[in-house]
Amino acid sequence: MKESLEIAQLGNPILRQQAQLVDNISDPYLQKLIDKLLTTVVDENGVGLAAPQVSQSYRLLIVASRPNLRYPHAPVMEPTAMVNPRIIAHSEEMVKDWEGCLSIPGIRGLVPRYRSVEVEYTNREGQQQQQELTDFVARIFQHEYDHLDGIVFLDRVESTHEMITEQEYIKRVSRVC
Ligand code: ZN
Repeated sequence: MKESLEIAQLGNPILRQQAQLVDNISDPYLQKLIDKLLTTVVDENGVGLAAPQVSQSYRLLIVASRPNLRYPHAPVMEPTAMVNPRIIAHSEEMVKDWEGCLSIPGIRGLVPRYRSVEVEYTNREGQQQQQELTDFVARIFQHEYDHLDGIVFLDRVESTHEMITEQEYIKRVSRVC
């Protein structure tokens, strides 16, 4: 059975570091890390995860949108590992929506993000990919990408009045169901 990894919590200095570029994607250590990240994101009811969150300071993230207990309205997609990702273009328009983070349990915040981003990354097979992401998936990407630069969503919340507890958040989303 594949094991789930421990999530670094806010206060752990690894979450504030600039992560390093991956230079050898076929390295078995890295491939195993991707497998463990994919397992962990499902086990923790996440929709994304960045390597620094499991104390591995590499430019590697997972986008894995699907409805779950923490995000009941998330769209379904195939979980994707993105290595050395970059934002090459983005929409002018920004949208604010609620975010949470496995490294910051119990808190949600309203975070402004670009509505769409064009991204470039290397997949786990070593192929260069280019993709346009929109709305919730674009949000996940931007959140995880920030982790690679030592930024957490709280840094982007514009007012402490736009922070609520997880419990209050669940009440609000269940009202619109
Ligand atoms: Zn996060």
